[in-house]
Amino acid sequence: MKELLRCKTVQEAFRFLEKDDKRTLQETLEMCQIPAPSYQEEKKAEYVFGKMQEAGLEDVHIDAVGNVLGVRKGNGNGPRIVLAGHTDTVFPMETDLTLKQDGNRYSCPGIGDDTRAVAEHLSIARAMNAVGIRGEGDIVFCANVCEEGLGDLRGTKYVFGVDGDALHQYDGFVSIDDKNTAGIIYQAVGSERYLVTFHGIGGHSYTGFGTPSPIHAMGRAIAKISDFQVPSDPKTTFNVGIVNGGSSVNVIAEEASMLVDMRSLDANALTELSAKFHEAVEEAVEEENARWGLGTGNSTSDCITVTFEQKGKRPAGTQEKQCQIVQAANAANQALGMETLYIGAASTDANIPISLGIPAITVGWGGKGGGEHTIHEWYEHIESWKGPQRDLLLLLALSGFEGNYKYQLPHIANFNIDFPEV
Ligand SMILES: [Zn+2]
Repeated sequence: MKELLRCKTVQEAFRFLEKDDKRTLQETLEMCQIPAPSYQEEKKAEYVFGKMQEAGLEDVHIDAVGNVLGVRKGNGNGPRIVLAGHTDTVFPMETDLTLKQDGNRYSCPGIGDDTRAVAEHLSIARAMNAVGIRGEGDIVFCANVCEEGLGDLRGTKYVFGVDGDALHQYDGFVSIDDKNTAGIIYQAVGSERYLVTFHGIGGHSYTGFGTPSPIHAMGRAIAKISDFQVPSDPKTTFNVGIVNGGSSVNVIAEEASMLVDMRSLDANALTELSAKFHEAVEEAVEEENARWGLGTGNSTSDCITVTFEQKGKRPAGTQEKQCQIVQAANAANQALGMETLYIGAASTDANIPISLGIPAITVGWGGKGGGEHTIHEWYEHIESWKGPQRDLLLLLALSGFEGNYKYQLPHIANFNIDFPEV
């Protein structure tokens, strides 16, 4: 990595990134003024589309789900690396996006997470174009949709062909999506979310007594769920987050519902937990029906029934801390005098490639930030160019540079090359 840092063109690109820093800030501030809740990123995507073209990327286009992609073509001999950052924010359309400034510190919902990252994409692309630098493999810039919450990683799922018909082959993936510049997320917390709805015929609490209650059935289900024993390693969790139902104190409810979230670092543990959860809910319904002498299933119309609606599914996966892509990012941090913060597990766009066995990490943007997912989110513009500099170094190391491949990404989809040692 230090050798790469000493290359003349890399040094030129570094100087460019430092000089371009003001413009990157300007674009961050412009972009965070564009509302972009998940599934409504079109306006922001248009902005990025124009900027990617200006930055000299090739094949700039917006795909079927709204991701903006542009390529910095390589020499055709190396792995293809995706650089990602998400266009969506957690804030609804009507959120007040008034920008506030206090010295170097700017406040606006979404300014860091993940607007800053997308602005860094543009700066990196400009720098590569200005000094004529290329990797061996293609570097695909991707400002993707739907990273947050119920967006459920739709953008990245599409890019990797998990959802939809796009089937691109990529060999490595770097997402910029954390407030710690030198942070590295390399494990994927998987999750499943369900809206569970219990239905019944309802009735008067006194004259209708003896009718099974959806609320009572849900109470039984929650009691079972709260007694689940789950592994602490790999960390596996469950939560009933929201409950709803009923209309009055003297009415047997017709409906009750709950939102359930389950997570694990381990795909099998998550599958097991999910199966146990489904079983517990079904049992709870049977018990409530049996309590009032009714049979199982739909044997009589008085019975409680239940429906499951999946509200989200993010795949789990792990990588070793010592694996190539993590250590490449660590070396790039070190080359810039930054000490790596190993964050380990989180739920980010990198979940998708990690779950597919494709080397992937999420790293931090330049500068400082805080208050993500709150309306008080802030960004401090301080040595901010170091983020894009580290990313450029990392991308070149992963894609190969001037015939050298220091990091041998194991999942080479389109290329069959011998990797010489540097
Ligand atoms: Zn984010």
